Amino acid sequence: MAPKIKIMDEALASKIAAGEVVERPASVVKELVENSIDAGAAEVTVHVAEGGRRLIKVADNGEGMDRTDATIALSRHATSKISSEKDLNAIGTLGFRGEALWSIAAVSRVKLITRRAEDRAGTLVRAEGGTVVEVLDHGCPAGTIVEVGDLFFNTPARARFLRTPGTEFSRILDLVKRIALAYPEIRFRLFHGPSKVLDARAGRMDQRLADIFGTETAGKLIHVEGPVMEGFVASPQVSFTSAKGIFTYVNRRAVTDRGLNRSIILGYGQLLDDSRYPFAFVNLRLDPSEVDVNVHPAKSEVRFRNPRRVYEEVRAAIKNSLAGSSMSFERKRVFDYGYGGASHRQIRIAEHRSTYMPERTGTETQEHPSTEAFKEQKEPLNPEFLEMEVVGQLWGEFLVAEGGDEFYIIDQHAAAERTAFERLK
Ligand code: ADP
Ligand code: MG
Repeated sequence: MAPKIKIMDEALASKIAAGEVVERPASVVKELVENSIDAGAAEVTVHVAEGGRRLIKVADNGEGMDRTDATIALSRHATSKISSEKDLNAIGTLGFRGEALWSIAAVSRVKLITRRAEDRAGTLVRAEGGTVVEVLDHGCPAGTIVEVGDLFFNTPARARFLRTPGTEFSRILDLVKRIALAYPEIRFRLFHGPSKVLDARAGRMDQRLADIFGTETAGKLIHVEGPVMEGFVASPQVSFTSAKGIFTYVNRRAVTDRGLNRSIILGYGQLLDDSRYPFAFVNLRLDPSEVDVNVHPAKSEVRFRNPRRVYEEVRAAIKNSLAGSSMSFERKRVFDYGYGGASHRQIRIAEHRSTYMPERTGTETQEHPSTEAFKEQKEPLNPEFLEMEVVGQLWGEFLVAEGGDEFYIIDQHAAAERTAFERLK
């Protein structure tokens, strides 16, 4: 019988390996933007056409490459970031496998334009399906531009799995936001066709949070600081049906880790309803030897040397921050109080609130009561409210008032809007 095993030829093997790194346009953007960050860029600009299938162009003002480096950068295992096995124990850059440019080039048409600040001439390298077809001197600004055209032109099986340009672009947008969150000192711009979709200027973290999530959400975040982590969390009122509001990083590398997500949720404890996910940005600061990032070619999964310690510290840090914050509140306990009978005075949530606060539904973050809601409100003012005396404020969000022998907790925001409405009427 003839032997059944054959060694694949190089072209086939490379397409299979490249597929692990480049799954879709967003994977290309991830690798290119990470390269720009590793090159010390202060500005990264991403242009995308047709959801990335026709063109992905990433330009930076980082250290650039000389002609020799530019010529081999697209080869497999070409990297300036590690050189020996022991470097694997202390990876301080986002890249290190020397496979990204090679993988991308294997499944597209690449144009690499680059110049170091100290060189007079820049270099242009052009490759098709992994083969370098042209290397030229080229005038260009200091930094690097990588243009990836016709992604998957030679791997139709992969191309068929691409979604609509809109869907692919939304993944790219999510990804750029995710990376930009961890690097507030770098300016990130993202264009889809002619339209500028994101412009996050270099600045402080609070500015970056506002650029990504909007000023209102950003203004409400609670800073979390712990021995192994830094981050921001939102009050439990902001919640989602999926983990899409959880942003986790290890030494500023975006990662997905179920254990980490869980420990964040555990940090909220009872504050969060079951099956709801919070908003959280968590960056773990670990010694590189404490974490193995070489788990998967896309490097978005990691292994912790001591996962339990990490998870427990994250949980505790979040719990403490929520407890110490003026915005957090023991929701369930407040509601339970009235039925506990521990005190002869009841604490009631003023009816007001339940009328105006919309149910937390779907994916939206908290909503403020709209003027429409007030118009629908037909019942006359509860006379008890007129006799109430405000005795304090809770967590910066609620008024505590005493009326008769009862305490009321009033949503301050809703009350303010109601007052304004009554005045208008
Ligand atoms: P890795 O990032 O794992 O080293 P890549 O294939 O992504 O591998 O890149 C190969 C090499 O090309 C990098 O190690 C780096 O030296 C160089 N390089 C890639 N992109 C850039 C860039 N934007 N600016 C400067 N050098 C770059
Ligand atoms: Mg890389």
